[in-house]
Amino acid sequence: MCGMQNDLKRLREEVLGTDVCTACGTCVNLCPNIISIEDRIAVLADCQIASGNCYRYCPRTIPDPRIAEALCGDVGYGGPVGNYSNYLIARSRLSGKHSFFQYGGTVTALLVEAMRQGLIDYAVVTKAVGNFPHPAIVKNEEEIISAGGSKYALSPTNKEVNRACTAGSGKIGVVALPCQATGLRKKQLQPREDGVEKASVSLIIGLFCTWALSQAGWRALLNRHVGSRFVKAMDIPPPPANIMVIDVGGERKTIPLDEVGKHVRPGCKVCLDMTAENADISIGMVEGKAGWNTVITRTEQGASMLESAVGAGIIETGSLDQKAWDHLREASLNKKEQALKEAEARAKRLPYYERIIKLGKKIRDEDKNGTER
Ligand SMILES: Cc1cc2nc3c(=O)[nH]c(=O)nc-3n(C[C@H](O)[C@H](O)[C@H](O)COP(=O)(O)OP(=O)(O)OC[C@H]3O[C@@H](n4cnc5c(N)ncnc54)[C@H](O)[C@@H]3O)c2cc1C
Ligand code: SF4
Ligand code: SF4
Repeated sequence: MCGMQNDLKRLREEVLGTDVCTACGTCVNLCPNIISIEDRIAVLADCQIASGNCYRYCPRTIPDPRIAEALCGDVGYGGPVGNYSNYLIARSRLSGKHSFFQYGGTVTALLVEAMRQGLIDYAVVTKAVGNFPHPAIVKNEEEIISAGGSKYALSPTNKEVNRACTAGSGKIGVVALPCQATGLRKKQLQPREDGVEKASVSLIIGLFCTWALSQAGWRALLNRHVGSRFVKAMDIPPPPANIMVIDVGGERKTIPLDEVGKHVRPGCKVCLDMTAENADISIGMVEGKAGWNTVITRTEQGASMLESAVGAGIIETGSLDQKAWDHLREASLNKKEQALKEAEARAKRLPYYERIIKLGKKIRDEDKNGTER
């Protein structure tokens, strides 16, 4: 029996066929045997070649000890928001284009600048097709800008990254949810050795994320509240609003979060990562300051990209006040705690649960001892 057959079997037993799978797409398009339909991942056939990349790259499998130390989020603990070099607020100054950004447009502006600088040749973003999210490879500024705005249902971004890696050559920038950023970082740290991939990921822009909806759940919400009308934008205002807001052609619809919460993917409930701890740069909202983003720089790549965008005048920055920073760290720790409780309650003997419960001991010890990070 070849190694991959074992690894594909392990992936199915430990993640893919369980409620731990995040549908990140990292295992799709590495070979013809794993496919995705919306956010459902399926195995078509047993594998016949000896290559365990699907298992090695999946964010929820046991990582190779040689790379585990370099990873935070669901893999290791680097403090409440992971390892970072700086934090601040930012917003886009891209002008002259008709565009919609979720908050400050920092994600879009950074990708545009990365392309202008030649740091990336193309990008993988999430577009809306009808009212549903689809990962897409984009090759110019217009296409990057047209992908602006958050879609709160999950789509398997990393399957498109895998396709881009084999279809072309050059450098790729990716806008990724935290689980997707972890899959990409695992891939970056353990490049394929079979020479199939000519392109590689050189910039990971991570989004903050508390949860994502299943596409079936999103469809149910749309059917109930929106029908077939086109969703222009959607948002989750910070607590205590407790609603999802949907803009349908200028009309504002609200859905209670209690109802929305029923459609959150099960894998999200055991997710320890709110701030995309394995990205180069992580971006979210700023509570109480509309039109701006919170930005956490983590790697040299992320910091120099931001510096370059500020230098070029397409991003404006400011400082994040201490209260907002403390609140973000608290919210991030809270997500970790909720995920740990859920993993303990599920009490299933899956390696992922065992691994994060073990990690949770470290998190709780450090938190109790007030270790500053
Ligand atoms: C499922 C989800 C949950 C989120 N939860 C939080 C949260 O709890 N707290 C918080 O502060 N921020 C959260 N965000 C991030 C926030 O909504 C914004 O994406 C972020 O602040 C960047 O804003 P921006 O104005 O720079 O984005 P823009 O410049 O408008 O760019 C948005 C980018 O997001 C990408 N994108 C859209 N939908 C998806 C998706 N489903 N998967 C992957 N990429 C996508 C697009 O490709 C685009 O490049 C979440 C985002 C998503 C998609
Ligand atoms: S790589 Fe992603 S989509 Fe594939 S099994 Fe792992 S979590 Fe699920
Ligand atoms: S909550 Fe975690 S698992 Fe779910 S989409 Fe966000 S990062 Fe991925």
